[in-house]
Amino acid sequence: MGSHKEVSRRQFLSAAAGSTAASLLARPAFSLAHETFSNAGTLDVGSNAAAMLPWQDQGVINTANSPYAKLHSVPVHAVTIDEGFWSKRRATNVERSIPTMRQELEEHGRMDNFRRLVGKSSEAQKGPYFSDSDIYKWIDSVGWALQSDSLPELRRKTDSMIREVVAIQEPSGYLNTYYQGDRVALRMSQHDQEVGHEMYCLGHMIQGSIAYYRATGDTTLMDAGQRMIDNFVLPNYGPGPNQKPIISGHPEIEMALIELYRTTGKRQYVELAGYVLHGDDRWTIDPQHIKYMFCGIPFPSRTKLEGHAVRAMYACSGATDYYLETGDPAYWKTLNVLWEDLTRRQMYITGGVGARSEGEAFGNAYELPNAQAYGESCAAIGNMMWNWRMLAASGESKFADVIERALYNGINSGMSLDGTTYCYRNPLAFDPATLDGFRGSPNIRNAWYDVTCCPPNLERTFSSLPSYFYSTSKDGLYVHLYDNSNLDWHLQDGTPIKVQQKTNYPWEGSVKLTVNVSEPKEFTLYARIPGWANGASVMVNGKSEAGIKSGEYLPMKRTWKPGDVVVLNFPMHAEIVASNPRVAEDRGKVAVRRGPVIFCMEEVDQSSGIALSDVAITVSERLGKEFQNEYKPDLLGGVEVLRHEGKVFESASAEQPLYMATGAEAPRTRPGTLSFIPYYAWANRKPSAMQVWTPFVRS
Ligand SMILES: [Zn+2]
Repeated sequence: MGSHKEVSRRQFLSAAAGSTAASLLARPAFSLAHETFSNAGTLDVGSNAAAMLPWQDQGVINTANSPYAKLHSVPVHAVTIDEGFWSKRRATNVERSIPTMRQELEEHGRMDNFRRLVGKSSEAQKGPYFSDSDIYKWIDSVGWALQSDSLPELRRKTDSMIREVVAIQEPSGYLNTYYQGDRVALRMSQHDQEVGHEMYCLGHMIQGSIAYYRATGDTTLMDAGQRMIDNFVLPNYGPGPNQKPIISGHPEIEMALIELYRTTGKRQYVELAGYVLHGDDRWTIDPQHIKYMFCGIPFPSRTKLEGHAVRAMYACSGATDYYLETGDPAYWKTLNVLWEDLTRRQMYITGGVGARSEGEAFGNAYELPNAQAYGESCAAIGNMMWNWRMLAASGESKFADVIERALYNGINSGMSLDGTTYCYRNPLAFDPATLDGFRGSPNIRNAWYDVTCCPPNLERTFSSLPSYFYSTSKDGLYVHLYDNSNLDWHLQDGTPIKVQQKTNYPWEGSVKLTVNVSEPKEFTLYARIPGWANGASVMVNGKSEAGIKSGEYLPMKRTWKPGDVVVLNFPMHAEIVASNPRVAEDRGKVAVRRGPVIFCMEEVDQSSGIALSDVAITVSERLGKEFQNEYKPDLLGGVEVLRHEGKVFESASAEQPLYMATGAEAPRTRPGTLSFIPYYAWANRKPSAMQVWTPFVRS
């Protein structure tokens, strides 16, 4: 189980000090002795305050001062998303999802958990031990939403919730409804650190507070988070002789600590994150837990993804954040090894991750079952968050391709089109007759889960989405995502820049970018050519660009003038996709992709009497060129529908014997037309069978 016994604490500290000295030069020495920490409780901007961006200009992650970040985020408010693909989802998120989720949280006692501790509620503690995090993730979603719209009523309600949260903070700085009151004795024990999510809840409090701060400038919740770290965690927990170990039972605190550093400038938060990512061998942890929790051994000793999928994705996100601040080459090497494992052996075609329900976990290499797939919404979101950080570190398009894949498919599927019910699992095949929606529920989408991590996670993803469209670099501007939108921001040297996008993406492949600078300015505009867009073309002011490669950013270095126009053309046609033959479940089957959108079949769309389990798609050497597509504005919020010839097995397969000699007469089939809808839109009508992977026959 890795090398967690092989590196002693002393070796770690001296190695860490050495690598820090080498890679950070003028930065403060790596030290975790608690005397070096400041115990200031309020927002105390540290030594790089002079260079700190104003709060309202900080993006979804603030890499402006990260020495190993090639790309810097733009704030949510810098990008306005206009009428188009994402506008409906985002409007629904703010008008329906966020308000109804608040009601659900209230009705299920999540706020009473706080009120109980100050005598304002007589209700018993409700929900699992990590329930506080659901409140924080919801506040996170409100924070980003407030950057796009002024929502005074929502702001007022959230301010009031934040006051109720911070009211329970103990003088020690401790704040967690599950471990206050009658469970104080269990607090931060080894067992409870492994399973009790105290650091996880603190991480979400910090992330939510930062989103809220970046929208409002209000530090109330962030101050509380800092007080818990400065006054409770740092003096008592860490590698020092008088400190107890920290186990990141569910990784999350790592990326929160680094974002807190990026917001306050207090370097000790990076050092604490580094300590947590390294693990602490003073406590012996069951090797199975080390695997499941994706923590407890030095992160760079990991060689593959395993264990609980969300934990692994959050650990990788935090480790990438740590790399962005420290440049530790061992981290970068491991992150790339794990990313190859993800994309070559572990990721669903939808960008979802987590093959097994048992442990909500990664399976073995190429173990990617469809109906049994776990594919938790949070894991696809974790995948996007990790790849966003890898993209910031490298500027490489392959990471943005994964973001797009997860966003349009495995994440977008997680929320119903009306924004009020959610998938916890996102399987790639489903039969309502098996009553296998979620832990015995027949419904794949539900308004509430007692483990309600996914709904507010989806909400914060959609409300922060504008921040993922662009990044700035030293030499210019990167365009990652395409939809009708307006960027109003500036290059890193302060030159104001506006970019308007006009498109029907993802239904059509043409994107018109109008670049507006106040006066001619030389810089490089990097436009992402998606990995799927073979044969893409690009014109600047009517002249074709050369050197276009799918799966890379096209750098266009020139003196840009006001009103310059870039037209990107991505070939947008349906394609038939096969999997690596080692994916046993997909052998003999194909999936359908059109641009970034993965399609599926729902039985409700097929001619009557056709069961999905009795169809095959007819594949000719024209490989998908026979698809007919039609945009249906009134179907499922407006979707492209694909049709293709297929075959239907004449005798219902259920009537055939289980096994037949292969030399026997080929099963009789009749021709039939198969209909496909985007995967993200499935399960929004009456319960119906669904599948992404369909057997094929050669014509
Ligand atoms: Zn979840």
